Amino acid sequence: MSILITGGTGYIGSHTVVELSKSISDKIIILDNLFNSDFSVIEKLQTITKKNIIFLKSDICDTNFLKHIFTKYKITSVIHFAGLKAVGESVEKPLLYYNNNIVGTISLLNVMKEFNCKKIVFSSSATVYGNPEHLPIKETAKLSTTNPYGYSKLIIENILTDIYNSDPSWSIAILRYFNPIGADKSGIIGENPSGIPNNLMPYIIKVATKQLDSLNIFGNNYDTIDGTGVRDYIHVSDLADGHIKALDYINNNNEIIKINLGTGKGYSVLQLVKTFIKVNNINIPYNIVDRRPGDIASCYANTELAKKVLNWESKKSLQDMCLDSYNFIKYNIV
Ligand code: NAD
Ligand code: UDP
Repeated sequence: MSILITGGTGYIGSHTVVELSKSISDKIIILDNLFNSDFSVIEKLQTITKKNIIFLKSDICDTNFLKHIFTKYKITSVIHFAGLKAVGESVEKPLLYYNNNIVGTISLLNVMKEFNCKKIVFSSSATVYGNPEHLPIKETAKLSTTNPYGYSKLIIENILTDIYNSDPSWSIAILRYFNPIGADKSGIIGENPSGIPNNLMPYIIKVATKQLDSLNIFGNNYDTIDGTGVRDYIHVSDLADGHIKALDYINNNNEIIKINLGTGKGYSVLQLVKTFIKVNNINIPYNIVDRRPGDIASCYANTELAKKVLNWESKKSLQDMCLDSYNFIKYNIV
């Protein structure tokens, strides 16, 4: 049995490969076009897992190459991470996002169908909840979104639902991630985007390493504990473990499941920044600036379904997340 991991050299994919290698004996095949990652991740994964991981540099839009992979490796299931994920960029370049994320996924699904491989775990996002009416957010909440990145996730969720409705021999897990941060405890893999980051933790890291002078906190007049935005930060290794549970579930049940992967706890920007400063004993200068357009006040998950269906819940604390995020940078950058 072989499992295909699209986007497996990326941030969440690479952490999932680490967890997978502990729990399954299937051959692991990573396919990634290295658009937002690099080959060094493969060597790092071999170091951590002590396993031979097969890597293929290719694009999910290349249907013929996908057919070659399915023929050669007899793929029996897929975890599909490959995609572009920057909200701002998706507004500027919608066609790039729709092509890469939606057309790419359709290419993958066509090949899966052709080769009778009907088990897929898909990376969705809490962004599909838009501005939630109720907190914590349940999977049954109304779905909406405001940008092409979010639409690409919603459309793929709909495509997967339609496929399952037309053929219930598929097994599909749609996982809606909240805000992954942190890094593998080895410090060998983690997240280090190039350029000026959009997301909070990568920005804090750039300030911690003096690549940027100070953090801009986007607004302190939200209706939250201290006025700054509240999010459900989840350790990437906990998130990765959720994929192992989801894979196990779809291997044993022909169902479509849509499940939140979060901790169920919301922390404000200031709470996160202060925790980072404390556990790493490093100063993070910050300024309060205007709200970022499109931001919502609060977003955190109801995690009951994940516990009930997957028997999964997050384990790591905000302190662990802040320590591990910085630990990775200390090993790799500083
Ligand atoms: P990432 O950019 O680190 O990893 C994605 C990987 O996919 C990269 O290595 C990239 O090179 C690859 N890729 C992109 N398009 C491809 C294509 N057409 N063919 C082959 N490879 C391709 O991102 P991540 O944070 O690991 O996110 C993984 C998935 O989870 C994405 O689908 C993302 O939208 C989703 N997600 C991420 C977050 C987050 O905050 N990180 C939150 C919710 C959902
Ligand atoms: N944020 C911030 N400064 C930054 C980046 C983010 O104050 O440089 C805030 C943002 O307004 C939000 C929280 O941090 O309240 C998380 O933002 P991120 O972009 O990481 O995740 P998302 O908003 O997509 O959930």
